[in-house]
Amino acid sequence: MNNRDIDWVRFAGELNGIRTIASGGQLRGRSRDFSWYSPILNAQLKDCVADLVVFPRNEEEVIRIAAAVSRRGVPLTIRGGGTGNYGQCVPLQGGVVMDMTELKAVREIRPGSVRVEAGARIGELQEAVRASGQDLLMFPSTLRVATIGGFIAGGYAGVGSIRHGILKDTDNVRCIRVVTVEEIPRVVELRGADIQKVHHAFGTNGIITELELTMKPALDWLHTITLFEHYGDALRFCKAASTPELDLFLLTSVEKGFAPFYEHLGERFPDDRNAVFAMVSPASIDQYRSLATSHGGMESLSMNADELEANELPPAYECAYNHTTLQALKIDKQWTYLQIAHPQPFDVELCEQLAQRFGDEIYWHHEFAKQFGEYQVFGIPLVRFTTAERQYEIMRIFESLGCATFDPHVVTIEDGGMKEIDLSQIDFKRQADPKGLLNPGKMRGWETVVAE
Ligand SMILES: Cc1cc2nc3c(=O)[nH]c(=O)nc-3n(C[C@H](O)[C@H](O)[C@H](O)COP(=O)(O)OP(=O)(O)OC[C@H]3O[C@@H](n4cnc5c(N)ncnc54)[C@H](O)[C@@H]3O)c2cc1C
Repeated sequence: MNNRDIDWVRFAGELNGIRTIASGGQLRGRSRDFSWYSPILNAQLKDCVADLVVFPRNEEEVIRIAAAVSRRGVPLTIRGGGTGNYGQCVPLQGGVVMDMTELKAVREIRPGSVRVEAGARIGELQEAVRASGQDLLMFPSTLRVATIGGFIAGGYAGVGSIRHGILKDTDNVRCIRVVTVEEIPRVVELRGADIQKVHHAFGTNGIITELELTMKPALDWLHTITLFEHYGDALRFCKAASTPELDLFLLTSVEKGFAPFYEHLGERFPDDRNAVFAMVSPASIDQYRSLATSHGGMESLSMNADELEANELPPAYECAYNHTTLQALKIDKQWTYLQIAHPQPFDVELCEQLAQRFGDEIYWHHEFAKQFGEYQVFGIPLVRFTTAERQYEIMRIFESLGCATFDPHVVTIEDGGMKEIDLSQIDFKRQADPKGLLNPGKMRGWETVVAE
């Protein structure tokens, strides 16, 4: 049925007792995410608006919404905190947007694991698990707004990945509970390898209502900044620091061009120095410092979380991952970004050549992480936006040098990074969303299934 043929006020009324919004500015607000980082997506998605926003408070209400949507055959886009960068929760075909943030209960904290509802904000979840002396394995720098369900459905890796790998790594996520979109919805719990059927599927093949995640004992991480005269030295240091001998939670390098975006750090990040932001365990700090010194580094900050707060300074992770892009865009809207994975072994000379070749068109930013048990370096460079053609030309240059690119200017799972159609995710969609109503337009492989 066409969305325009639906009486949305009546549809909302049938949802009896569930809070809804059927008109006004909030419809548009709840249809946006951080895809404005990309001028290409910003133009493409600006007119996509939901017809109805619903706010379930528990799984029973999620089931009622799923059943109503299935009966009418209308699109359903699931929304967490709306911090995704690829229009992941923008309703491309209108219809219903389901805001999950009222499903926020932390169900059970045990030694080594937590069970939580999917709409819980990651920051609040982290506070709850900290009270038990434990930490989440990883989180995005958007933790105050982003939900844990959105991170699992839309995210890839984050702060903590140098210690614990990426979300996809075995046992980081232990269980995903999903509601299917059928006239009589089912509740399914996925464990072990089956988790990958729904993880990073952009909410296209099941509504996640609960999750069980692995945790580790908490540590009082030291947030540090170390300055280097040459970016190549900063990278050589980070490469040397990517070793099991050092216990790190974050290791990020940025070129000096970023300094003006971090004015509040003052002399801790002056504009003639390149910076490495890190979270270092107290047991490793001496070794970390002497390694930095031997690479020409000078420490300009070292504080734990309480000291940072007392001094009104940001945590190191707000100078990492896509927060760097956010800081730049707050000051200067001409920037956008790209995402790459460097070939291994990591070649610092290649980075130096790239820095020379692109000059002021690109400011370099690297994240040192682990994936599938191996150290890995991701580049999240800031790129001055001129045209879409130039963005793709730059990506082709990166690829010609052996880098993998994850295009941030597209909306589908496959074109953004996965590169190939994940048949297990499509198979699961056949069972969990047989009418193809969930987040339509985001899983390119499904369009092929429909065409067949
Ligand atoms: C400044 C900044 C920094 C970031 N850093 C990182 C980072 O370090 N690592 C990283 O991976 N990402 C990062 N991101 C991207 C994004 O913040 C993360 O993916 C975040 O975890 C998304 O959570 P969210 O609740 O905002 O999800 P949303 O944006 O609301 O949704 C993301 C996707 O998940 C789906 N979804 C949401 N909830 C559910 C659910 N309950 N069931 C099924 N599907 C659901 C949505 O449909 C959508 O496709 C960053 C983004 C910004 C703007």
